[in-house]
Amino acid sequence: MADNRTVFKKIIDGDVPAQLIYQDEHCIAFRDIDPRAPTHILVIPRKEIRSLAEVEEQDAALLGQLMLAISKIAKEQGLANGFRVVTNTGKWGGQSVDHLHFHLLGGRQLSWPPG
Ligand code: 5GP
Repeated sequence: MADNRTVFKKIIDGDVPAQLIYQDEHCIAFRDIDPRAPTHILVIPRKEIRSLAEVEEQDAALLGQLMLAISKIAKEQGLANGFRVVTNTGKWGGQSVDHLHFHLLGGRQLSWPPG
């Protein structure tokens, strides 16, 4: 049978290994396989949501939980000098995995604007 799960769903299910940083009932966080900064962590909801373009009213509390988790992780990772949170969305946004995820980037001076 075809396996239509995204790689992130496979990580949630424990079928693809990942360097887990944090988990709770709502979300998990793990290191990006291709880091673009000294700290590059992906924070994702356990719920399968394809992107920020597809969230619904009922996801409001979950989105809040994700932001709180990101803030907590940033503190735990010692990102006191600052960090960036990015959510690439859709084709023009550069999204490559169709499971909502937030990039947490830090550990160096980040430039602006992104490409
Ligand atoms: P996007 O391009 O959708 O914004 O971000 C997807 C991110 O997932 C990329 O930064 C990519 O490096 C990361 N990624 C893709 N596959 C895997 C994987 O199997 N394991 C981990 N840890 N990260 C992955």
